[in-house]
Amino acid sequence: MKHVAVLGGGVIGLSIALELTRRGFDVTILEKNTCGGQASGAAAGMLAPYSEIGEDPDDFFRLCLASLRLFEEWQHDVKQLSGLDFEYEKSGSLHCVYHPADLLSLQTRKAWQEEFGAIVNVLDQQALKEVEPHLSDDIIGAIQYPEEAHVYSPDYVKALEEACRQHGVRIEENLGAVSVEQYEQGVLLQAENKNEYTADQLIVSSGAWAKELEDLFELSLPIFPIRGQICAYERQEEQVNHILYTSQGYLVPKANGTLVNGASEDIAGFQTDVTEKGIQRLINWNTNILPFLAEREPFHTWAGLRPATQDGYPFIGPLTKAPNVYFACGHYRNGILLSAITAKVVAEELSGEQASVPLTSFRPERFT
Ligand SMILES: Cc1cc2nc3c(=O)[nH]c(=O)nc-3n(C[C@H](O)[C@H](O)[C@H](O)COP(=O)(O)OP(=O)(O)OC[C@H]3O[C@@H](n4cnc5c(N)ncnc54)[C@H](O)[C@@H]3O)c2cc1C
Repeated sequence: MKHVAVLGGGVIGLSIALELTRRGFDVTILEKNTCGGQASGAAAGMLAPYSEIGEDPDDFFRLCLASLRLFEEWQHDVKQLSGLDFEYEKSGSLHCVYHPADLLSLQTRKAWQEEFGAIVNVLDQQALKEVEPHLSDDIIGAIQYPEEAHVYSPDYVKALEEACRQHGVRIEENLGAVSVEQYEQGVLLQAENKNEYTADQLIVSSGAWAKELEDLFELSLPIFPIRGQICAYERQEEQVNHILYTSQGYLVPKANGTLVNGASEDIAGFQTDVTEKGIQRLINWNTNILPFLAEREPFHTWAGLRPATQDGYPFIGPLTKAPNVYFACGHYRNGILLSAITAKVVAEELSGEQASVPLTSFRPERFT
């Protein structure tokens, strides 16, 4: 049985580990701290390819769309395999606009997205008030995507971890930074306490930290952390039905009665603290979406590090010179959404099958 070591236990490493173990691989996850403790546990959990990619369809959009279409079955499997719930809500989303000039761009989006089979409705202000009565009067129209959904990310990663454990994945946590000591004749990894781990195959799923391996693999891997600051409000009696998306921020109504409000995009190295300026920007904007928030204070603020890449595309694929090293990192703003398709294509390629989505644009050597 082929033994796979997965470096990093975020949503990407956990999803790949689960899919590989279901296909009969022997899998060990090696995690510096705790699984889901970085970007993955901090995410808003939107599964929103149409809202996120508004301009032109490209390979990244196709990857995101393939993942959305897989997610229904994938989330069902994760729940079954773990016995845990994580609030998969097919709420749909509203991409809201404020200026008459933007109404035209909604029609453009609708036209090309329908070519990809999207269900898209353009709503005027009156129709919007019927589906979301609390929206600001400044919003003059929106595009509605009934297929977009969201999960409660902290619980999603817990369920993935539990499903992995129950199905034989070994999970080693609190190892400090694990280093790759050897990869040419078998893989040898070392934890900070000098414990060693061997494997036939390595998956690099260390998110924003993957750049640390550039020199070792003689690879140009332009991946860097973009901090996302985010906060949550308690909802009271107000009903909010959709993900509310605007050019300056979003609100996600969670089934647990909270509204998640995200998110900043700032460069702060590997710091995961929140700043007054970052959270205040969210607070200042969100009343332009739901005016009732003017009376509220967020009860919780936090931040995470999105693994961004130079061209905005993730790295998915093996090294040509060492096919037993496989990269799966750099999922930037969409790692929760992309977890389903990433797990699938990695498992397909490691099983010697053709990936069900073309991966040429995502190969890790494209900058080298
Ligand atoms: C505020 C915010 C909101 C977001 N909202 C959404 C959203 O709505 N929808 C969506 O799809 N995505 C969203 N994202 C993006 C998403 O969270 C990320 O794309 C995704 O979590 C990346 O997953 P990952 O497993 O690659 O990285 P991480 O979750 O960062 O996991 C990487 C893991 O590798 C470990 N590691 C690093 N180096 C080593 C080492 N040397 N040895 C051992 N372990 C190591 C780390 O400790 C970490 O646990 C959001 C992100 C943020 C910050």
